[in-house]
Amino acid sequence: MTELKSMTLEELEAYFKELGQPKFRAGQVFGWLHHGAESFGEMSNLPRALRERLEAECLLTVPRVERRQVSRLDGTVKYLWRLGDGNCVETVLMRYKHGNTVCVSSQVGCNMGCVFCASTLGGKVRDLTPGEILDQVIFTEKDSGERISNIVLMGIGEPLDNFDHVLRFLTLVNHPKGMNIGMRHISLSTCGLVKKIDKLAQLGLQLTLSVSLHAPDDETRSRLMPVNRAVGVELLMDTCRRYFETTGRRISYEYAVIDGVNDGDEQADRLARLLRGQPGHVNLIPLNEVAESPLKPSRRVRQFQRRLEGHGVTATVRRKLGGDIDASCGQLRRRSMLERDASFPEEGFS
Ligand code: SAH
Repeated sequence: MTELKSMTLEELEAYFKELGQPKFRAGQVFGWLHHGAESFGEMSNLPRALRERLEAECLLTVPRVERRQVSRLDGTVKYLWRLGDGNCVETVLMRYKHGNTVCVSSQVGCNMGCVFCASTLGGKVRDLTPGEILDQVIFTEKDSGERISNIVLMGIGEPLDNFDHVLRFLTLVNHPKGMNIGMRHISLSTCGLVKKIDKLAQLGLQLTLSVSLHAPDDETRSRLMPVNRAVGVELLMDTCRRYFETTGRRISYEYAVIDGVNDGDEQADRLARLLRGQPGHVNLIPLNEVAESPLKPSRRVRQFQRRLEGHGVTATVRRKLGGDIDASCGQLRRRSMLERDASFPEEGFS
C-alpha cells in the first residue's frame, strides 16, 4: 500500500500524474493529509472515483489516543498514541509564553542504552516513518485545538539513528502548504552520533542541534551512555565545533544533573574547559527519576550552574513541566507496556 503522507508535494504530483489526474490534486491531498484528515472519504473536493481508488490503494495513518494525561500543575499534555501496527509512542505538548511546543518521538523504543532513560529499556522496535513523526504534530494540534509553533525532537528514539525519515519529516513539517513550522522553531536532540552530525552539518539547516552530553569525561560518560564507548568526548566536541563552523548555529548541550555522578565542582570545571572557545549553551536538566534506575536527581544543580557561570559558560536550568504525569522520555509507554504485559522482559538493565 502506498503511504502518501510521507511523500513530498513533488512526489505526490508525480504520483497523481501517473494516475492520470491533474497536478492540483496533489496540492489538495497534501492539504488534507497535513490538516489531519482521517479518511479519504472526507476529502470532499476530490471526485468520488478517485477517493475510492485511494481508499483501496493507499494507507492513511491515523494514530489513536491510547492515553492522554493532563498535568494539573502546568497544563502539559502527554499523549500515548497507538499506531497502525499496535505499537505506541509518546508526544508531549508543553505550553510556554512564547507558544506551544510539541516534543515528538522518532522511533518506537531506542537502541542507545543510556542508563538514566526509560525509552531505551526494551530496545528499539522500529523506526517511525516520516508520516508517523508528522502525525504527532498534526494530531496533537487537532486533539488539543491549539496551534503548535515549536517542535523538539526529544521524545522516544534517537533521531539521527533514523536520519532519512527525520530529514523527510523536517521537509514536510516545514512546508508552507502543511504545518509551516520554520526550521528556527525546531530543535533536534542527539546522543552524539558523530558521523550523522557531520552529515547534518552539510545540509546547513537552521534548526537548533542539542547534544546530550551529560558528562565531561569519558569515564563518567561511557558509564551513562554506551554510545560514548565508541566515540569519546574529545571526538564528539571536535564534531560539534565543526558543526558550528559549518552551519553558524550554536549548539545547545543537554546535561542531566545526577546526584554524586556528574554534579561535582570538578566536573563543572571540566565541562567549562571543554566548551572553551566555542559558543554554546548548557541546558541543565534536573534528572527525572526512572523506577528501574538507582540514579537520583542532583541536590546541587544551582551550585553547578553558578560554577559554570563563574567560568563564563551560559547555563540555564530547564523548568520541569508535567512532573505529575510521567512526562519524561518514554515513561508512559514503558508503564503502559508493563501494565499490558506483565511478562515484558525485565532483563537487560541494571
Ligand atoms: N536520543 C536523543 C533524544 C532523547 S530524549 C538524545 O539522546 O538526545 C531528550 C533528552 O532527555 C536527552 O538529553 C536525554 O539524554 C534526556 N533524558 C533522558 N532520560 C532522562 C531522565 N530520566 N532525566 C533527565 N533527562 C533525561
